Amino acid sequence: MATIIDGKSAAADVVSKVKAAAEELTLASGLIPGIAVVIVGNDAASQVYVASKGRKARECGFSSTEHALAAETSERDLLILIGKLNADPDIHGILVQLPLPAHIDPGKIIQAIAPEKDVDGFHFTNVGKLGTGELDTAFVPCTPAGSMLLIEYVLGRDLSGLNAVVVGRSNIVGKPMANLLLNANATVTVAHSRTNDLPDICRRADILIAAVGRPEMIRRDWIKPGAVVIDVGINRIGEAASGKSKLVGDVAFAEAVENARAITPVPGGVGPMTIALLMANTLVSACRSANRAPPH
Ligand code: NDP
Repeated sequence: MATIIDGKSAAADVVSKVKAAAEELTLASGLIPGIAVVIVGNDAASQVYVASKGRKARECGFSSTEHALAAETSERDLLILIGKLNADPDIHGILVQLPLPAHIDPGKIIQAIAPEKDVDGFHFTNVGKLGTGELDTAFVPCTPAGSMLLIEYVLGRDLSGLNAVVVGRSNIVGKPMANLLLNANATVTVAHSRTNDLPDICRRADILIAAVGRPEMIRRDWIKPGAVVIDVGINRIGEAASGKSKLVGDVAFAEAVENARAITPVPGGVGPMTIALLMANTLVSACRSANRAPPH
């Protein structure tokens, strides 16, 4: 039976370290890390995410400001707000909650955020730094960064000699995940919807990352005995019997747990790490702005 990797406790650990380091920073320099969260429109799930980011920021001792804009806000007005936040010395992290309403180009908005405040790590500058291994000055997207920490708990930092398979090639999860694994010396394969013989490729993985968005797609016999399985997927499915819904990952957990060495559950695995790493990135940004070394 696999070890269940406890993302909640790992995330609590990250948050308590961030909180301690933020206190130290504030004591030493008077600087309070500041995060600005921008939400446009009334998407219910986005509102929940934004509220929980604000709560977590305050828990870390940060100042958190929320900019809730009407759904009909123009792209121009949103760009003006981003410009103001870029220029505000009290703001170290800017987050624009996605998705944005259809009349706003998310790419344009993300590229308007100053790279040194892009704590989501989506700006081309940060993507380029990750791709070229300049991790000391980059911001790394939070979900893959959190997934790497969970891998580190089981396997340590150096993944030399290990085969990693990432299923999914999105810009926010799959591609940055692959780059992080490469940086840690793993031998990396990236699979996607046009990949042939996916089960066969997954079976070669010592480290298997599922970031697909297909409920329980990865079955027991896709998993190499002893593999470390990181399930990024979050899928809500209905249960016919009860009429209720529940969250499942991209991996058939009950099956995989019998084959893997270690596995993240859904919920309670990668999910809590994402928000914790967002706080860690904001702290790093504040430290950089105060010319102080960020904690490791
Ligand atoms: P995207 O939809 O952007 O990307 C999905 C990827 O999966 C694509 O690369 C796609 O391939 C690939 N794919 C789709 N179907 C198949 C298939 N049948 N076989 C192989 N590959 C397939 O999703 P995201 O990367 O944004 O998110 C992935 C999952 O992770 C989702 O469930 C999402 O909810 C979850 N997530 C969880 C987070 C967390 O905090 N835990 C944060 C972010 C996401 P192609 O490129 O060819 O279309």
